[in-house]
Amino acid sequence: MEIGTNVCYNEMRTNVPICGVNAMAVEQCFADIHTEEDCQYALFKARWPEGFRCPSCTSADYYLIRTRRHPLFECRLCRRQTSLIAGTILEGTRTPLRKWFAAMRWVSVGISATDLMERIGVTYKTAWLINHKLRHAMMQANGELLLSGLVHIQDGIYTGSPYWSSSVSHPKDQPILAGASLNEAHEPIQLIMRQVDRSLCKRRYPDLAAGALFAVQHVDSDAEEVFVTPRPSKGRHCVSLYRTFYQALRWLGYTFRGIGPKHLQAYLDEFCYRFNAAASDQSLFTRLMVQCAGTATITYRSLILRPPFTHPRGLFHRSAVPERFAQRQAVA
Ligand SMILES: [Zn+2]
Repeated sequence: MEIGTNVCYNEMRTNVPICGVNAMAVEQCFADIHTEEDCQYALFKARWPEGFRCPSCTSADYYLIRTRRHPLFECRLCRRQTSLIAGTILEGTRTPLRKWFAAMRWVSVGISATDLMERIGVTYKTAWLINHKLRHAMMQANGELLLSGLVHIQDGIYTGSPYWSSSVSHPKDQPILAGASLNEAHEPIQLIMRQVDRSLCKRRYPDLAAGALFAVQHVDSDAEEVFVTPRPSKGRHCVSLYRTFYQALRWLGYTFRGIGPKHLQAYLDEFCYRFNAAASDQSLFTRLMVQCAGTATITYRSLILRPPFTHPRGLFHRSAVPERFAQRQAVA
């Protein structure tokens, strides 16, 4: 057992720069990751950018135990032991951190489980699980996002197939709402996409109640303007938002060859997370690393048993649409 403090742990590392809490420093920290020890240190900095804090008593003093697969931090005050990966998206993993970090880099551009399996040398099940756990972290980040400024919301249909799209209704149609904060040129700068329950659709497309409810859940109440474009929109829809929506559909088609309704929301969240990260100073890899360090994991069983929609179904009901949003439905 080694007696350590944050300074001690930092000093033990000589080949990786010690980082502060600002984005540039964290970015620098992740730029030089090669070994398993590098990964452990990068995860430590992502999880505790200002140094270790005991989850129980917030003490910064700890014993560092290195007899385990991953470092264990024992609080010198209350003796609570905290694993490096406990409480993160990597909790319980037996896959080397180097492979997780490689997966994060590949997910930064979007990759199927089949391709990831070959790239990082794991089984298909492990690649699938890593991919979905990373998506789970992205979903948590997206869940905290509220669209602001000028917001446009409109609908779309995902047919579930890479080979055809049709203007004719099909049993495999999956109605979606896409909302975005727009800049002065009416280009999307922040994006949220959500599957919509068929009970909130008129014929094939989400109805105005669904759009208003999307606004309640995902738009800042101080937003300047909120436009919910009804269908038929008669030319009032936002062209650039549709363009972004179809980029997402093409990505789903070419990379994954079609996604079923059960996991579609996770893939939509991955696309939105990547889109929104483009406006950030940090690289997507760095953002994802920090997000993974701060997100509790999800098990394989929870992933395969989860319902098709991640938002609370009870909320997504006509009766939940407040009057004030019903009046703001647009009509731009
Ligand atoms: Zn403690």
